Amino acid sequence: MALRNIVLEGDEILRKRAREVTDLNAHVRMILDDMLETMREYDGVGIAAPQVGIMKRMFIVEIDEQVMELINPEILKTEGIQTEDEGCLSVPGKIGTVERPAYIKMKGLNREGQEVFYEGTGLLAVALSHEYDHLNGVLYIDKATNLREAEARD
Ligand code: ZN
Repeated sequence: MALRNIVLEGDEILRKRAREVTDLNAHVRMILDDMLETMREYDGVGIAAPQVGIMKRMFIVEIDEQVMELINPEILKTEGIQTEDEGCLSVPGKIGTVERPAYIKMKGLNREGQEVFYEGTGLLAVALSHEYDHLNGVLYIDKATNLREAEARD
């Protein structure tokens, strides 16, 4: 595995629609490994392929030590609204308040090409929605109501 550079806001890569993964091969799995390592390095909850410059429709979310990889994800269902602060590895040092579905259910493929389903509320719903947006060139700052400096950590 290898760390990858995070593409930062302002780069037009983040504004493009990523393409479907048509060949789930060893190269794709290597990219997923790199994405996970990079996400953990920067203490992220999620990371989408365009954030490492790869225009493929896939992302990773890791919550409570559960790693969820979704390739070619689709939103099956959403319910309700929650309003929480969020940030993004591609927009360092900022947070903002965003409306997201209170509940979301998605399906996609895992790295073996098998269909997988993830559903949840709270942080999981936020993260799935946030990462899915990345695949369509949407950043949370487009939706945030009070974008501001994050308090320094450490
Ligand atoms: Zn993000």
